[in-house]
Amino acid sequence: MSTERTERSWVEINLDHYRANIEQIKQHLNPEQGFMQIVKADAYGHGALEISKVAIDLGALYLGVANMEEGKLLRLQGIKAPILVLSPAIKSEISQIIEYELTPTVSDLEFANALDSFAAERNLLVPIHVKIDTGMHRSGLSYELAFQGYQKITQLRHLEVEGIFSHFASSESDENYTGTQLAKFQEFISLLNSLPRYIHIANSSGVLSHNDPCTNLVRLGILSYGIYTNPIQAKLIRLLPVMTFKSSIIQIKPICRGETLGYNRTWTAPHDTTYAIIPVGYADGYDFMLSNRATVVIQNKSYPVVGRISMDMITVDLKADPLMSVGTEVTLLGGSESKTSAEELSGLFAGSAYELLCQIGRRAKRYYFSDGHLISSSPLSRRDFVSSDFSDSKLNTIIESAISQRLQNEEIGEMIYREILRSFFYNKDRDVHYRSNFVHNIALQSPINSYYPTITSLSYSKVLQNDYFIVACANSDEVLQPYFKRNDVEYRWLMDANFELSPHHFKLSTVSVNGIALTTQITRLLDCIEIKCSHPSLTQLIGSEVDFLIETETLYPVSSHQLSIFITELTRGVKVHFCYPPEVNNVEITPIFSGQSKFPMISHTEHDIYLETKVDQWVFPMSGIVFSY
Ligand SMILES: *Cc1c(COP(=O)(O)O)cnc(C)c1O
Repeated sequence: MSTERTERSWVEINLDHYRANIEQIKQHLNPEQGFMQIVKADAYGHGALEISKVAIDLGALYLGVANMEEGKLLRLQGIKAPILVLSPAIKSEISQIIEYELTPTVSDLEFANALDSFAAERNLLVPIHVKIDTGMHRSGLSYELAFQGYQKITQLRHLEVEGIFSHFASSESDENYTGTQLAKFQEFISLLNSLPRYIHIANSSGVLSHNDPCTNLVRLGILSYGIYTNPIQAKLIRLLPVMTFKSSIIQIKPICRGETLGYNRTWTAPHDTTYAIIPVGYADGYDFMLSNRATVVIQNKSYPVVGRISMDMITVDLKADPLMSVGTEVTLLGGSESKTSAEELSGLFAGSAYELLCQIGRRAKRYYFSDGHLISSSPLSRRDFVSSDFSDSKLNTIIESAISQRLQNEEIGEMIYREILRSFFYNKDRDVHYRSNFVHNIALQSPINSYYPTITSLSYSKVLQNDYFIVACANSDEVLQPYFKRNDVEYRWLMDANFELSPHHFKLSTVSVNGIALTTQITRLLDCIEIKCSHPSLTQLIGSEVDFLIETETLYPVSSHQLSIFITELTRGVKVHFCYPPEVNNVEITPIFSGQSKFPMISHTEHDIYLETKVDQWVFPMSGIVFSY
């Protein structure tokens, strides 16, 4: 990468390689077979969200995760595809599995019953996949009892068996055992009168070794990430590693023959040489077992890791290579050289490539490349966002789980955004009223007697709730506050403290709903004017979406150097136009937007400022725009 890095280490995810791997694996599928992309453990360390998005693009029918939390996170990030929770769920996960529309795996009757009762209470039909243990002897209905158990599960009225599956114990290495498992699975399937929609057994290695044409789904994990589980596979399929873990040299030092390096002095320099310090260690997922074993690649040449892997550093023998300099990029895992492949590295300590991938880059930022370009990079660090209005316990959990998954601010913001929308629309048992096509024009005119005559026009669409609404106007913020809480108030105006509150200083020039001019009735309270706007024909419009138009003529003090617009309701699509006379200079606009995007489009001309969001962009209450001059 050409840009200067601020990270000590980073992970590059090549989505083109992932795509190529999927295309390769697809060649081994039968025409009727679809695939489930396994994205558990954050997609084996590759990033579940990004991988899921591409997988869905490539036709994945399902995503597979390990537990409810992982599935929930994907939902909060906006993934809509079906998600199977592969591991047996615990009962406390049931309510959220259902809330987030995840498909649970049923591996025993007790869980099936608990799930069914939960669904029955809410009158739901929950899709499930039933897992049969054909010899892995981990989770799943034990084979001997599976048929009976399965029959019982199918009788539960609030569960719908959408899939049956099993899992191979050693599809990459044991032909015989895998064959036996497959035969058992086929036997089980043959006993059934009716088959569910999905039947699946093969993991990615199983696709190459035992792809049963009777199944219509395969579950792709490790091979899709470009890692072989057996060297023989390289003859059948060409895979490309998706992940590369990189760092750079931070220091180069000489060491003399006979001196020792690192903790416990496990390496002694056999001759005078130079060594590089690289700022990654086992805390970054570079396994301690790689001490004195691993190789790194620098400028297409390989160099041995010498001495022990520390928590945050490793040392590499540069063999006195004079061309090396501080800052040079180092490939630790992945890349084009086989010496740094996950297979090779894990093999050095009889470890597992799966584990190595999951643990790599624990502290590193991931960079995603697609079509050879970097498509997702550093987040905007100032994107912290929570409006106190929404700080309910649920949001706290989301933020906590987001942080524990090391998500970036931007992603957290996105999740909070979705969650708020979700709670507005799904979880509240009331109708949600929101404004759309919100257009607010404010025109200050040249001052008269130290006031700017000001014309405002506000229009938007919204479902009409009552046959009247209130416009309120007051001299003080405190007086106006209660009106922000009332749902029959459509417009609030804060007048200058020097004003006598009078309809002369705050005039509603037009108030209409669907073009029907409303009658206004003014009530003067002690410190506030309430204007009730109504019309007999509004009764017929209650419950339907109508167009509001409210125009005012008012005076704005020259002494005030600020004018604010509040967005007090959930609003979709905002357009604001502020226009000002030559007497006003240097107008600055500060949007304070809560919602998905904090930065609306803004443009200036000589006496105008325009602010605009996308038409379908949600802006949450507690947003506003401040003009200062
Ligand atoms: C993890 C997992 C897979 C994917 O296995 P790979 O060997 O990575 O292809 C498939 N099925 C289940 C049930 C799993 O837990």
